[in-house]
Amino acid sequence: MPFVPLEKGKVGMYTCGPTVYNYAHIGNLRTYLFEDFLRRTLEYAGYNVQHVMNVTDVGHLTDDGDTGEDKIIKSSRETGRSVWDIAQMYTDAFFRDIDRLNIKRPTIVCKATDHIPEMIELVKRLEERGYTYEAGGNIYFSIDKFPDYGKLAQLDLRDLKAGARIEVDTNKRNPHDFVLWFTRSKFEHQAMLWDSPWGRGYPGWHLECSAMSMKYLGEQFDIHCGGIDHIPVHHTNEIAQSEAATGKSPWVRYWLHGEFLVIDREKMSKSKGGFLTLDRLVEEGFDPLDYRYFCLGGHYRSQLQFSFDALKAAQSARRSLWDRISQWNREENLASMHPKGNQYIAQFRQHLANDLNTPQALADLWAVVKDPDLSESEKFVLVKEMDQVLGLRLTEQVTEQLDPELESLIKEREQARKNKDFARSDEIRALLKSKGILLEDTPKGTRWKRVF
Ligand code: AMP
Ligand code: ZN
Repeated sequence: MPFVPLEKGKVGMYTCGPTVYNYAHIGNLRTYLFEDFLRRTLEYAGYNVQHVMNVTDVGHLTDDGDTGEDKIIKSSRETGRSVWDIAQMYTDAFFRDIDRLNIKRPTIVCKATDHIPEMIELVKRLEERGYTYEAGGNIYFSIDKFPDYGKLAQLDLRDLKAGARIEVDTNKRNPHDFVLWFTRSKFEHQAMLWDSPWGRGYPGWHLECSAMSMKYLGEQFDIHCGGIDHIPVHHTNEIAQSEAATGKSPWVRYWLHGEFLVIDREKMSKSKGGFLTLDRLVEEGFDPLDYRYFCLGGHYRSQLQFSFDALKAAQSARRSLWDRISQWNREENLASMHPKGNQYIAQFRQHLANDLNTPQALADLWAVVKDPDLSESEKFVLVKEMDQVLGLRLTEQVTEQLDPELESLIKEREQARKNKDFARSDEIRALLKSKGILLEDTPKGTRWKRVF
């Protein structure tokens, strides 16, 4: 399907962001990586991308059926910290992960708790247009008033037995109706409450993404992304309430959803076991960019099977790239480019344009690296261009200064290696690793890298 934006040369892109009651797991991070590949591809194609992402810091109701326990309150009870502190702590941790994976920060990051007035405004609009009803103290969206309900997921509503999977809310006229505004919390000690025309309470989860995306991108925009689990409920409800409120359709021109990261054939999830964080991968000796490389190797619409062995393979592939590239001549002012170089770039662009085929794009990069007909400088220029999208920091020079104490340890290790004192050399390597410095021995000497 060709991509045609609403406004020439510009793209408005919204991605559902994290729910900050826990660390992001590497499954969540796969989705953010896919969105970064997409954004970088659009920018590489010359678009000016306005990328908006929300942070769900209202802790309740991330469960599909407006049920479930309040995760932030649970975390607050367990740790003795305030709900606001917890949300801030996990927001900071999230952005630390994003930076380490070399994911570009969104143009606008917006917190749900900073946009309650916009959400209330949206509910008012829906109320004026007759899409809402009040029951049991809560305000619901009535899907029967919106004949297009479920069009994204092509849901056959007759087949969906809401009660089979989720607790039935007896206030609902239709089991797929959803809450826009809660005043009757089923959770005790609700810490985050706001005044509204319907009473003191808090918004339904789906509301924030509609309110914030329209505030920053307009009532209709180009791209909306998220994980595949969001199709049947969250995105379906976002579409219903946005299109009902504005009367404009389609609200979003292109939807892209990332498939799951799976471990032992099970989807990685916040509530189940098999929960791996980026910190854990670093503890195991991986660089966050090894995980980025691993994710590039799978197409976003296919499930990706995680294992440490597969991650090790990605690590050695990335290191081998780094080792080769770091030895090349870096003359970037070339008088001409070998015709094969231009062909590689054309192919690379084509693969990305073909529904973001990152595995093929990675193969194009390898083809350049291995091509004996290209000079080192030509390869360097081509890799630098491709890395604008791949984001593996393949051509960046380490310019950061190290602490003198660490610098002298590296020198001592070099000397130990020369003296064939491998025990001391290994000891120093381990000591530096514990301080977040990873050493790589290359034919041109020892290089260091921060691993956080
Ligand atoms: P959450 O913080 O739970 O709202 O999830 C953040 C993002 O990660 C959403 O876009 C989810 O769809 C996505 N996600 C959740 N689990 C996985 C998984 N196992 N693999 C890939 N993406 C996931
Ligand atoms: Zn969302």
